[in-house]
Amino acid sequence: MAGRNPSIVVVGAGVAGLSAAKKLKEYGFNDVTVLEASEKVGGRVASATLGNTCVDTGAQYIHGASEKNPVYCLLKKSGVLNQVPEMGTEAFYSNKGHKVDADFARRAYEAGEGIIQYRGFNTGKSLGEHYAEKTQGVIDSLQDDEKTRMQSVFALVGKDMLIDVGASDLHRISLDSWQYYIDMGDSLNIAGFMFQLVDLLLEGFPKECLLLKREVSKIKWDGTFSVAPSPTPPAHDEPLPAHTEAASDEKVRQYPVCVVCENGEEILADHVIVTISLGCLKARASSLFIPSLPTEKMEVIDKLCFGNIAKIFLEYEEAFWENEVGSISLIYEDDTPASVSTNKMQWLKNMQYFSVLRPKERCLQAVVTHRCLQATSTFRTSTFQSDSNRTCVVRFGRQKYQRMYPVLLVRPDGSTINIRHKEPKRIMKMPVDITTLSEEERKIRMRKREPKRAAKQKLEDFEDDFKVDDYSKFWKKK
Ligand SMILES: Cc1cc2nc3c(=O)[nH]c(=O)nc-3n(C[C@H](O)[C@H](O)[C@H](O)COP(=O)(O)OP(=O)(O)OC[C@H]3O[C@@H](n4cnc5c(N)ncnc54)[C@H](O)[C@@H]3O)c2cc1C
Repeated sequence: MAGRNPSIVVVGAGVAGLSAAKKLKEYGFNDVTVLEASEKVGGRVASATLGNTCVDTGAQYIHGASEKNPVYCLLKKSGVLNQVPEMGTEAFYSNKGHKVDADFARRAYEAGEGIIQYRGFNTGKSLGEHYAEKTQGVIDSLQDDEKTRMQSVFALVGKDMLIDVGASDLHRISLDSWQYYIDMGDSLNIAGFMFQLVDLLLEGFPKECLLLKREVSKIKWDGTFSVAPSPTPPAHDEPLPAHTEAASDEKVRQYPVCVVCENGEEILADHVIVTISLGCLKARASSLFIPSLPTEKMEVIDKLCFGNIAKIFLEYEEAFWENEVGSISLIYEDDTPASVSTNKMQWLKNMQYFSVLRPKERCLQAVVTHRCLQATSTFRTSTFQSDSNRTCVVRFGRQKYQRMYPVLLVRPDGSTINIRHKEPKRIMKMPVDITTLSEEERKIRMRKREPKRAAKQKLEDFEDDFKVDDYSKFWKKK
């Protein structure tokens, strides 16, 4: 292998995989192939269209918007950050429907943030315990009429924190491990622009070295695989025929790794960089690597956990908020810092932060955590997938609309008229008069009307971490 240009395979074309490929190219490695399972690049940095607006279905915040952060530097250098519109003002409403004084809410919020950002260690406490304890100290020092207002804003800070870390309960976040989080600065919301990061990472990367729809099923990483050089090298998307026996011919190139795709293709490499998500690794690490990864690595994959969040987009006929508002926070008056956890029976209470989507200013975006996600998954018809690494945009209409909408009506003879209808639709077609059709056309239409058998859908039970034994002491006689 010495002296030759090593062949490197990167598994996964999310930002980690694309960044690795870009860096390798910059350092002069020109035999780099990226294999991506899906039909598009970007992974969890993804976008979709909602009406005329581009929305981020994955990442949208630069956490730590400072020169220490390479994502920030890349987007700044390319001028993307100059295009991001001002976020607008923050508005706070109480669950009783009245507006909360924004000045007070902001000051109280900053105080809460100061406490929750504390990075202590060796206390053996959870972030929830720490936060409840420290905020209680502040609340106790206040006048009675201030106490309730203050604790409900502190609770809001706690709920926002759950979304930041994708957790369901502050009491399940270790304060000890929190110290290892490196804070590089404030978070910057670049909604609608994050996907440009993917375009920037792809700049100058040869298209033929990026292979989509190549799900890697096996990585044989401890062998000797060889391929005889052909007079005309195969195109990049053609598989190389691999042989496990080392050939005697001097010109035969040998590789220590063979990457096998689900479609049977085999790609030989000197090095492999695996960038698939922890969720994907948990699902398939035991069969992906041949031989298996060392025990300690498998244990890490098994024991590490991750948070889960989803985005919900709400589209209104008219914005009910003022023009300059960029975000709306809901403060629940009966919330306290000690009560911060996600309860799926009260999932609505955990949709507390809404950002206004720009430029389409009559849309709001909320983010919910795993437990609420299970509850909101009843909104749609497809089954809930807690291990999915993509967000998909699903739409469901209202049951009742407030006004009539202009719609183009297509008559059976093809002519059109403008009418007003009780639902917003672009176009509506009147049914064809079946008696005017030929026998053959009539048969085709009748066949389409026949009832179709729906495939039986298996509904998944969602799991709950409620353990009855933890509570039995309250009713069991000693
Ligand atoms: C809804 C949501 C909002 C988020 N918001 C933010 C935010 O605001 N700020 C922020 O910094 N982060 C945010 N994140 C997290 C951020 O998006 C991810 O940390 C980041 O995109 C991960 O990139 P990655 O390349 O490591 O993994 P991924 O993006 O998961 O990329 C891995 C790629 O590997 C592919 N793959 C998987 N298995 C195989 C296989 N067997 N063979 C070949 N390819 C395979 C996948 O299809 C995927 O394209 C958010 C995530 C989500 C889901």
